[in-house]
Order: sequence, then C-alpha cells, then structure tokens
Amino acid sequence: MRTSTRLILILTVLVGLIMAAGGYYRLRQRETFLQRMLQNEMHAQALTLQIALENVFRAGRPQEAQLLIDSLSQNPKVFGVLVFDETGTAVLASSSMTAENRQQNEAARSVATTGIPTERTRRFNNEEVASLLTPLSLGAARRGAFELAQPTSFIKTELALARRDITVVTLLVFAAILLAVLAVMRYSLVQPIRALVRGAAALGRGDLNYRVPEPRQGSELAQLAREFNRMADSLAEQRQTAEREAERRLKLERELRDTERLAAVGRLAAGVAHEIGTPLNVIDARAEQLLERVDAPLPIRQRNLTIIRGQIERITRIVRQLLNLARPYQLHRTPTAAGPLVAGVVELLEADAARQQIELVIHKVENVLFDIDSELIHQVLLNVCQNGLHAMPDGGRLLIACAGPLLLRNGQRFASISVRDTGTGIAPEHLMHLFDPFFTTKDIGNGTGLGLAVSRRIVEEHGGWITATNNATRGAQFTLYLPVAKEAVAEAATVAEVPGTKELQPSAGIKQRKPREQAAQAPQPV
Ligand code: ADP
Repeated sequence: MRTSTRLILILTVLVGLIMAAGGYYRLRQRETFLQRMLQNEMHAQALTLQIALENVFRAGRPQEAQLLIDSLSQNPKVFGVLVFDETGTAVLASSSMTAENRQQNEAARSVATTGIPTERTRRFNNEEVASLLTPLSLGAARRGAFELAQPTSFIKTELALARRDITVVTLLVFAAILLAVLAVMRYSLVQPIRALVRGAAALGRGDLNYRVPEPRQGSELAQLAREFNRMADSLAEQRQTAEREAERRLKLERELRDTERLAAVGRLAAGVAHEIGTPLNVIDARAEQLLERVDAPLPIRQRNLTIIRGQIERITRIVRQLLNLARPYQLHRTPTAAGPLVAGVVELLEADAARQQIELVIHKVENVLFDIDSELIHQVLLNVCQNGLHAMPDGGRLLIACAGPLLLRNGQRFASISVRDTGTGIAPEHLMHLFDPFFTTKDIGNGTGLGLAVSRRIVEEHGGWITATNNATRGAQFTLYLPVAKEAVAEAATVAEVPGTKELQPSAGIKQRKPREQAAQAPQPV
C-alpha cells in the first residue's frame, strides 16, 4: 500500500472518530439544554398557575379554576393540568386528561402533605410527559397539589433535527478536511516525492542532466529537491571532470604508445644495425685481406673464407629470427604429452648442463596433454632452458615442472610449463624489456636478444602467454601457459614452492641426473 493511501486511511479513521465523538458530545449538550429549558418553562408556568389558582380559591371562586387550567392547556407545550385535594384525589382536570389520569395519586398526596414540589416523568395517554407536582393552597386550612404535565415529544423532535444538522455538518466538515488533506498530500507531498523518485531513477540510468522541479514553498521537500538537484549538478561536474581526465589520460597514453612504438622501432633498427653491422664489418675486413693478398698462402685464404661464411651464417640466422618475429605462423597443432616434449628438450641440454655442473630436474610432467605445435613449443622451451643454463655459469639447478590443467580463459583450459633456475636472476630494470627484440645482456656474439621475443610470439600464437619472475631466493622462473588438449586427463600436480632444497623429491617418471653422472657422460669440452 502506498504511503499516501496509508496516510489518508489513517487520517480518515482518526478524523472520523474525532468528529463522531464531537457530534455525539454536541448532541448530548443539546439534549441537556432542551431538558433544562423544559424544566425552566415548566417551573415558570407552574409558579404562575400556582399564584392564579390560589387567588381563585382564596376568593372562593373555585369554578374559575377549571377555566384557568383549560385555557392553560391550550398552550401546545402543556399537556394538561390536574388539581388534587389533600387525599391525592384529582378534583379538577384539564380537558386533555382522561378518567384514567384522574385516579388517586399517592405522589400528589405526599406533595400536599410535605409541601415539597416533585418532578417526574410519566406517561399520559401513552405519551411520555415531564410533570411537576406543586403544593397548592385550596383556601382556609386545606392544602392540596396540582400537576402540570408537559409533553417531551418536542425534545425528541428537536434532538432529531439537531442530530440531522450535526450529522450533515460533521459530514461536510469531514469531506472538507479529507479534500484538503488529499489536495495538500497530492500537491505538497505525492507529486514532489514522485518527481524525486523519477529523478533518482534518471540518475541511476546515468542521465545526470535530469533535474527535479523544485516546489515553491520552503517545505522540507522543496529543500530535498534543491539538494537533489545540487547533488545532480555535482555528479555531472564530477563526470565531466572524469571524462576530461580520461580523455587527457587517453591522449597521453596514445602519445606514450606512439613514443614507445617509435622507440621500439628505433631499438629494433639499432639492434639490426648492431647485430648485422658487426658480422658485415668482419666480412668486409676479411674480404679486403683476400683482395689485398691474392697470393696469400692457401690456409690463410681458407681461414678468411671460413670466417666470412661463419659471419654470413650468423647474418642469415638473425634474419631468420627476425622473420620469425614478424611472419604469420601456420600452427600444426597436435595433442602433445608434456613428458616426451620436456624429455626431448632436456636431452639436448644434458651435455651443456653437465659441463656447467647443473642439475636438471623434471617434476610431474606426465599427466598433461597440450594442444600445441610441438616443434615450435620445443623451440621455445629449449630457448628458455638455455637462457636458464646461461644464467648459471657457476652451476646450479634447473627445474622443469608442469601444473594443470588449471586455468580457464575464454572457455579454453590452460596448463603451464615452468622453468626455474638458481642463477643470477633478472635485474628489476630489465624485467620489462626481456621480451623486446634485441634486448640482451650477453656479450656480442653470444646472444641476439631475439630468443624471448620470438618465444613470446610463438606462445601467443597458441593463445597462451609467458611470464618471467625472479625467485624469492635465487634465480628466475619463466612460465609458459599453453592450451590443453580436449582429451587431456586432468588432475596434474601443483609445483612445489622452492626448488634447490631437498624437499622436492622426484616422483615416478621424473628424470633426474646428478651433475657428476652427467659430466661423466658428457663429451669433454674441446
Ligand atoms: P639472448 O639470450 O640472445 O640474450 P633472449 O631474448 O633469449 O636473448 O634473452 C634476453 C635477455 O633476457 C638475456 O640477455 C638475459 O639478460 C635475460 N634472461 C633470459 N633468461 C634469463 C634467466 N633465466 N635468468 C636471467 N636472465 C635471463
């Protein structure tokens, strides 16, 4: 039920009750007034009649008494008059009285004896009357009484009229109050509140230009409407500021991106120039030597030509990697088990790991089945692992582990392969440039800085992503997130937290080589 309806209902009941009580009270007052008026009139008439009758009796003309009471009875407000002797027997009666009314009356006898007037209500001829018994001197020593009866019907008639008037007035006042309340509620309460509700809904929809009409009077609702509009103003202002700020930020970001893009192109160009420039210089120098000394001994010429070929190979490699970075990939995805994939990479690393006294650990990779181009991911994993080995020139431990399938992205499940080393770690300022083309911290000739850039490209071509973090203790961790084949058996193990401690025990299927064993098997460095 609406608040206004509830308020009107409560008001109706309350006002109705109060007005009914008021009407009843006024009716009772009117009744009392009429009765008192009747009594006063009766007493006045009785007094007048008493004087007149006593004069008549004292003068010894009792026959005039009959005339007196008859003429009094002509008055419509007088029902009749009875005159009693000292025994209470009616000796005179007005013409309106029947024989029955004239019967002996004990009350009249008592009034005659005591001389105290008595009022009572009785019925004459089936009509209710108010009567007053008054003592009367009948002359000489005789004392009687007379009864003056007045009909009460006019009181009832008056009361009925009064009731009607009061009811009509009450109803009119009630209707007027209700109409006034309705009008006040509608124009001062309901309409402003509805306007506020509409305003709140509009703000909720994001229409900050909406303003509620402010009622003219200085009521609380007018104040509320004013505050509401002020709030809408301030919200609109804030939104404008936020929009301006967002635009400004967007512009800045765009400029920054442009600058970054330019810087990246610059870095790429510098990288290409540097990486290709160095071998070109070498080629140039060796070719010049060959030209200057065409008669040089064969071994020297052969050596120069070998160097030239080596440098050309290097340039070719760089160009191939650059192309890898830019070319669109045609992925040949097949369900690839993590185990054999990792084993294939580890096999290629064993010799170097053994030489560098690095322990290779593979942890729980057998359960995961990826949906990948195994050749490309093999290349990525090899690159990441080789970087790990390079970061541990004084030996250490390289842990390759799988986790998942665990992540859901765009309806595709992903599992991860992480490569964790105990090497130098990554300088914080290098972290954000790791995947930039030609970013390298390695000496000239040892790294092109294209490995991670190409790796990221390949992983992203698979819909996956790659992350690099520093370990809490030592070294770094690279994690490849790759899509899982539909037929993959889930429930892969999660990776234990800190490698390099003896907590991490190899499970079934773990391939682990001790550095010394590896060293024994590895070909000796030349
Ligand atoms: P490159 O190996 O030819 O330098 P990459 O793109 O593979 O090119 O690597 C870029 C750089 O990232 C490396 O020069 C090295 O500074 C850093 N990096 C990569 N892997 C690691 C790692 N495991 N630990 C520390 N630094 C690393």
